Amino acid sequence: MRPDFIPFALPDIGEDEIAEVVDSLRTGWITSGPKTQRFEQDMAAFLGGSLYCVAVSSATAALHIALEAVGIRAEDEVITTTHTFTGTAEVISHFGAHPRFVDINPATLCIDPRAVEAAITPRTRAVLPVHYGGMSCDMDAILAIAARHKLRVIEDAAHAIPATYHGKLIGTLGSDATVFSFYATKPVATGEGGMLITRDPALAKRARIMRLHGIDRDAFDRHTAGCSSWRYDVVAPGYNYSLSDLAASLGIHQLRRAWELHKGRTAIAGRYDAAFRDLPVQLPPRPQNADLHAWHLYVVRLNPDAPVDRDTFIQRLNDAGVGCSVHYIPLHLQKYWRETYSLRAEEFPHSQSAYERAVSLPIYTRMTEKQQEQVVATVRSILKRG
Ligand SMILES: *Cc1c(COP(=O)(O)O)cnc(C)c1O
Repeated sequence: MRPDFIPFALPDIGEDEIAEVVDSLRTGWITSGPKTQRFEQDMAAFLGGSLYCVAVSSATAALHIALEAVGIRAEDEVITTTHTFTGTAEVISHFGAHPRFVDINPATLCIDPRAVEAAITPRTRAVLPVHYGGMSCDMDAILAIAARHKLRVIEDAAHAIPATYHGKLIGTLGSDATVFSFYATKPVATGEGGMLITRDPALAKRARIMRLHGIDRDAFDRHTAGCSSWRYDVVAPGYNYSLSDLAASLGIHQLRRAWELHKGRTAIAGRYDAAFRDLPVQLPPRPQNADLHAWHLYVVRLNPDAPVDRDTFIQRLNDAGVGCSVHYIPLHLQKYWRETYSLRAEEFPHSQSAYERAVSLPIYTRMTEKQQEQVVATVRSILKRG
């Protein structure tokens, strides 16, 4: 790779993050412990308090234990979007349950609430919307549909910290659970990591048990005092989904800097908006009124009259030293999902069309002025008409 290549994504790890990890290494507490607890408390405070935060090893793990905690069973159906990462859907299959994929609204690139309602059957138990790119879904519509049909709602907010809907932070909207990802490329990054957010104490308790092998420590903590910490009871076949204190050390400072990092990404989005306005592309959707976009992704869609097709555009960006990606190759095109559920692209015209035209451009706070200029100049030189 050429030395001046602009990567698609890079985490912004500061000296505080590094010092916190070193501190954990020196104390010797490198698995889940005091830092993880602090990260959970900090997240609760970040979201305005009075909710439960359960840190786990990934967002996929958080989705898995959220579905377990709301009681998803074999042959149940969970409605989700085809326009997502496979982690959103794979956890549904772990129960012998079935994802029911629906199309997106092309104006938002998020799950279409009307398609959700149309996909409900007597077996439907839950809806799993994805706040695509860091912009909230139409949550009023989704929560209303769920209330009407007695469905649980688990939000895949892997991209959406911090983002708002009707002025409220994602994570506080009143669904059964919200899940954040701290994967290396996400807005708050710990390498690997995730968190489940809920207002439901019973759901939080079950999630805490299931992330630690189904071990119920509280039962003994309550009944035994002091020296009996070797006692525990296994109440379910759980998972090993703990977050390490090394990851939590990063998370504590990444979360403290979340608004600063958000400001940096928002500035880059604004710059791209201004620079690409006259090009034959559709700029990323943005929230209505004054709501905040987390700007995890900046996705442009090439217009039919663009001088190059999507694949050529990506090739030219790469040749010019600009990293990019595509979010997502929709699940209806992925072998396992396509074959298991006999999915056809014609069932998902909006996702299919968005996929065929979409390119995600680099948007992260470690991009220098010069790198931002290079992205702008490269995109403009490839797409300017004539
Ligand atoms: C990254 C991502 C996930 C999975 O997150 P992990 O923390 O890597 O498990 C799930 N859903 C979406 C939409 C994602 O982008």
